[in-house]
Amino acid sequence: MTKIKTVTILGSGTSTGIPMVGCYCAVCLSTDPRDRRLRSSILLTTNDNKKILIDTSPDLRQQCFAHKIEHLDAVIITHGHADHTHGIDELRPLTYIRSFKKLPILPLFCSKICAGILKQKFSYIFDSNYNNGLKILGGGIPLLSLCPIKLEKRKWTEVKICGLKINFFLCPHGHGQSMSFATSNFAYIVDCHQIPSSSVKLLKKKKLKMLMIDCLQKKVQNTHLTMQQSFDYIKEIRPKNALLFHMNHDLSHQFLEDQIKKNFKKRDTKVVPAEDNTIIKL
Ligand SMILES: [Zn+2]
Ligand SMILES: [Zn+2]
Repeated sequence: MTKIKTVTILGSGTSTGIPMVGCYCAVCLSTDPRDRRLRSSILLTTNDNKKILIDTSPDLRQQCFAHKIEHLDAVIITHGHADHTHGIDELRPLTYIRSFKKLPILPLFCSKICAGILKQKFSYIFDSNYNNGLKILGGGIPLLSLCPIKLEKRKWTEVKICGLKINFFLCPHGHGQSMSFATSNFAYIVDCHQIPSSSVKLLKKKKLKMLMIDCLQKKVQNTHLTMQQSFDYIKEIRPKNALLFHMNHDLSHQFLEDQIKKNFKKRDTKVVPAEDNTIIKL
């Protein structure tokens, strides 16, 4: 059975990254390397060495260099926000390598709503009539085949990607929805301000080895989970391990570690704040 072997944290920060441009707060000025966070993205490597990239962050180019990413088998985009999509053009060289090797066009999976957003935002990639259908000259475009997933509210949809069974589901994220997912041992709860109770129930049943969960800041906000809400969901879902991500400059790594100590007992889930460039073995 295909399983996830490793999860590489390419970035664990919110949309601005940390430090934030023009900000001189204690976290943005922190000398603790764990407080430097690129925009959120992960790389899944399966037990048969297939590579699945989750989101194309604006930092994708440097994330590829940091981890020598030279080949991808699939891309999943969780939702259309800039911090999860605006690095899409950096896929160009990776898709060219596939065409030199005569491999099929790189598949990009996303929800149907997100596919519409991508077509609008990146019409030069996805609209064959772009520029009146004239042949593309110069540096070209990322060669991607868009694979929209039909998702229904309160339901999970299973899709096999690179042999890996992935259950996708929607979570409310501000005015829109983002696409989270779970495999047999791992779940990724991306940008959302709530997890529908039907999905919490299913996540609980999974007895997850690792849960990665959105954790923006202390104060309640209408698009993301707060630190306390993330803690509450972890306590309810009870995975073996949990990783907090998508933090903004309100939460230093050290502060989060201290809060975890206060909120979780030894026999509970082992919770840690995600750290850029770590590779987690599942
Ligand atoms: Zn985001
Ligand atoms: Zn978002």
